Formats: sequence, C-alpha cells, structure tokens
Amino acid sequence: MIITSTQPGDMDKRVGVLGGGQLGAMLVEAANQLRIPVNVLDVGHSSAKQVSSIGTHVEGSFKDREAIKKLAAVSDVVTVEIEHVDTTILEEISSTVDVQPSWKTIRTIQDKYAQKEYLHEYGVATAKSVQLETASVEDLEKASSILGLPLMLKSRREAYDGRGNYPVKTKEDFKHALEALGGTKSLYAEKWANFRMELAVMVVKTKDGVLSFPTTETVHENSICKLTYTPARSVSDAINRKAQDLARKAVACFQGKGAFGVEMFLLEDDTLLVNEMAPRPHNSGHYTIEACRVSQYEAHLSAILDLPLRQEDLELREPAVMLNILGGEAKDSHLQIAEAALKDRWLKVHLYGKGQARKGRKMGHITVCAPTISEAERRIQPLIDLIDKGKP
Ligand code: ATP
Ligand code: MG
Ligand code: MG
Repeated sequence: MIITSTQPGDMDKRVGVLGGGQLGAMLVEAANQLRIPVNVLDVGHSSAKQVSSIGTHVEGSFKDREAIKKLAAVSDVVTVEIEHVDTTILEEISSTVDVQPSWKTIRTIQDKYAQKEYLHEYGVATAKSVQLETASVEDLEKASSILGLPLMLKSRREAYDGRGNYPVKTKEDFKHALEALGGTKSLYAEKWANFRMELAVMVVKTKDGVLSFPTTETVHENSICKLTYTPARSVSDAINRKAQDLARKAVACFQGKGAFGVEMFLLEDDTLLVNEMAPRPHNSGHYTIEACRVSQYEAHLSAILDLPLRQEDLELREPAVMLNILGGEAKDSHLQIAEAALKDRWLKVHLYGKGQARKGRKMGHITVCAPTISEAERRIQPLIDLIDKGKP
C-alpha cells in the first residue's frame, strides 16, 4: 500500500473517498475550487487522482480493509463514490471518523432487494419483487407465477450499468438467464415495468433536511443510461411534483448526509415507482455541473461538510441534455466522439482518463445547455447520430 501526501488544502476538514472513478474525479474537481483536501483510495492512476494533487492519497483497493483504515486515519469525513464496498469496515471506522452517508444506509442500498424491502416498509412504491431462494429454474418458475412474464431477473449485489440484469421474456429464457447472471449469485425477480418514461431526481440530504434538484428524464439503451433531458420532456407539473415528492420521501427514510440518486419508472397510467437508489452522486446528475447553480458534487461536499446549502441553490439555470460516451467497437471511438463534439463549443466534453476503452464502459460524457430543451436537443443530435452510426 502506498500513501502519497501532497499539498494540504485551504479548508480544514479532510474528505476521504472510497473509489476514484469518474464520480470521484468530478467530486475532486468541485473540491479543488475551494481547496478542500480530498483523499482518494483507489489504484494509482485512477480518474480522481489524475485531477487531484491536494490531500493524502492511498493506493490500493477500496475493498481492502487495511487501506480503508489508512484512509480513515488521514480523513475527517469518509464518503463513497460507489456503494459496492465492505460496510463492516465502514461500521468499524465510524467510531473514529464521520462516515457519510451512514454505513447502515450504504449496507441497505447496496443490496437491491434489501433496498426494495426497506423502501416498502417506509411506504415508498417500488416494482414488485420476489427473492429467489436458490438460483434454480424451479425458483424462477415460482417467481414468474407470482409476477408474470416478462420479468427482470436481477443480481442483488454488485450491479451497475445493467450488468446484473437479465430480461426474461418466456420460460425458454429461464436457464440462460440464470447462467448469464452467474448461477450462484444471490438473485431476485422484478415485475416488468411497462414504463412510459424513466425519471431521476438527485436528492441532497443535509443536517437540516432534504433538498432536491430538478426532475430529469433518463433514456437507457440495453440497461445503460444513454441520455438525460432536464427538465424532463412532456411531463406535467403534477407528475413533476409527484416525482419530486417520491424521490424526497425515498431519501428521507435513510440515515446520513450527502447526494442520492433516485431512479424512477413513470408507468402508462402515470403511476410512479422507484426503480433504485444510489447513496452518492449519480450519472443522472452530471448535467448539474453546467446547468444548475450548484452541482451535485458541490452539493454532496456541502452536505457532508455542513456547508450552507438551500433549495434555491439547486435550481436549473438552463435546460440541458447529457449524452454518455461509452467505449465502442474500436478502442479509440470514444475519442473520435469527443473530438467531433469539440466542433460545437456549446457542447461541454468531460473525459474520464480511463485509458483503454472496453465496449460499453463509460469513458466520458457531453453536456449541452441552451435556452430551450429543443435547442439543446438540436445541438446534441449530430453526436447521437455519430454514436448510432458506429453501432454494429
Ligand atoms: P445503474 O447503472 O443505474 O446502477 P443497474 O445495473 O443497477 O443500473 P437498473 O437500474 O436496475 O440497473 O436497471 C437498468 C435499466 O434497465 C433501467 O433503467 C430500465 O431501463 C431497465 N429496467 C430495470 N428494471 C426494469 C423493470 N423491472 N422493468 C423494465 N425495465 C427495467
Ligand atoms: Mg444500480
Ligand atoms: Mg439504475
């Protein structure tokens, strides 16, 4: 394990982050402006470390207990940029360092089925789910007799970018779905949501209460977020209010401070269900960097450090579209997209410095703000066309 001490910061409280991916990097970028020292625990050249020379970085895995203890020893507040962490060690260090949000919150949310049960207990509507006792065709059969087909088979843990999901359309899919999700992993089945749209709200829990960013429309392709539109298109004021209320209610029932992502399904009959939550800044909130008065990253730092933050600080300044840049078939296709985007300087390109692209890996994103959402859509369209053209 290597510990690298660089510049101390100007602010006195030190933040420790488990994970140094793109969310950690954008958190560091927000912290840099105030010279808040952010100590990152991850491998040597992780995205977050590339943009930070303030703080004391720990080189190692954010799953390594000893490395987490080292991070805690040099930090005043410990937070996460990924929920797939060992919460028993977070519980242990919480006696000596402030862990935000609470390890209990991270423990519940990291298990998607436990998260659903918890939300259900607090009266938050989610898609009906059935736990599979074993990853067997018989148990999947039982679940499908309760939920009907199609259904979504999901891994309870370690899921991201749709990697733990398998759509089960007919009984013929059962065997393959179980194999595709790893056979022995803990699984659950979810009732298929015939959604009209997907919405997301970033909610910020501070020491004083819950605040929320505007309602965003998210568009997924193969279970991976492709685009976000803020404000959400063709959503009435009433639905917007319902989405805001549901997202706030979902976050309010968890302990601790910080930014939370709440993903929702808007069904054909206008019912809203929570799909899932994230106890950290979230892909659906990238747009806030350019489009809101305060970004989700500044908001997360403000919440965990008890800096002033009010509801009006989270307002939208201008409509925005965000497009994810994923790794494509060719190893530099993400760079070609970034280069093409630079032809229109209204498009703000963020690259994550991950080096080698893998197909479907998030390599960067583009945000465009404009006076109207249709103007923002018009400006991003050539990039969407370029991405769609590159698909096999
Ligand atoms: P993330 O990267 O957001 O953490 P994830 O791997 O945890 O994603 P989910 O959010 O569970 O996956 O699902 C990804 C996408 O798959 C959803 O946004 C939605 O488009 C689709 N999906 C998930 N669950 C269902 C469902 N029950 N019915 C229909 N579509 C679903
Ligand atoms: Mg998820
Ligand atoms: Mg999701």
